[in-house]
Amino acid sequence: MTVLPAFLDAHVHLALIDPAALAAGGIGRVLDLGGWVPSAAAPPAGSSLESFPEARYAAQFLGAPDGYPSRQVWAPPGSSCPVAAPEDAPDAVARQAAAGASVIKVTLNAVAGPVLDADTLAAIVVAAHERMRPVSAHTEGAGQAAAAFAAGVDLLAHTPFSERLPDDLLAAMAGRLAWISTLDIHGWGRPTAAFAVASDNLRRFHAAGGRVLYGTDLGNGPLPVGLNRREIEALLDCGLSSDDVLAALTADFPGYPAAAALPLTRAVSSERVTVIPGERPTDPTDLTGFTDWLLGARSLPAHALPAHALPAHALPRPDLEDL
Ligand SMILES: [Zn+2]
Repeated sequence: MTVLPAFLDAHVHLALIDPAALAAGGIGRVLDLGGWVPSAAAPPAGSSLESFPEARYAAQFLGAPDGYPSRQVWAPPGSSCPVAAPEDAPDAVARQAAAGASVIKVTLNAVAGPVLDADTLAAIVVAAHERMRPVSAHTEGAGQAAAAFAAGVDLLAHTPFSERLPDDLLAAMAGRLAWISTLDIHGWGRPTAAFAVASDNLRRFHAAGGRVLYGTDLGNGPLPVGLNRREIEALLDCGLSSDDVLAALTADFPGYPAAAALPLTRAVSSERVTVIPGERPTDPTDLTGFTDWLLGARSLPAHALPAHALPAHALPRPDLEDL
């Protein structure tokens, strides 16, 4: 048995799934990127603290009035917060912070409606950083990933998939922001043209030293609730090593500069760990064996570990510098 820090899915929508099922699927920590706040002291009916992941969240989506996802059928009522002008940014960010958000989510989807102008986006980033919250952006449509980078956004909620990004932009991004992978949303095993674009961008971003966080956009389409084998395989196909994949899964919650200092909500469990039966294959080229082993993961509260198991912090971790 191997014990590791709790695996993080850095892009989920808890309002659209049954979070209690995540633990059995190996996910112990989640970053909710829009549309969810804890509703009460207790986790949702049918789950318990034992099975509920450690959760941090963005609360509302900040976007242009009538912009994405305010008109999407899947978006729960009240999940969007329109920001019309730079002077509206501080209030919009303050509202999310008051709701317990540890990250701010902005949407820049030029395909689905109006997007934030550069000044308003920059004002949101400034307001978020003043409150120590990183900003995560959904970017879609030509030029939107570059706009997010120019405004000082910290995280891209998806690997950019609308266009091939030039190498110089990727290199600049690699020095300053992290990408959340979400490759499998492009076809769910039947790769689309966007999957190819995203994979090519991610391969070059990773090669340039960019930080990649494992994330699935869980709640969006037919995705397994738990570790997604196809997402893991797609990351390996982009040139990440098995160590890189473990680093992408065990990264700290994104922070600006340290989300760890922010209060957790009541609807989170105590510290969780990942337990994987069997030993990790020793041959670094055995990626199928690695994936098979990894998919046996489940998440447990640390106190549930068998007495003979070492505590997670005493175990060797992949190189997590800067993550
Ligand atoms: Zn999403």
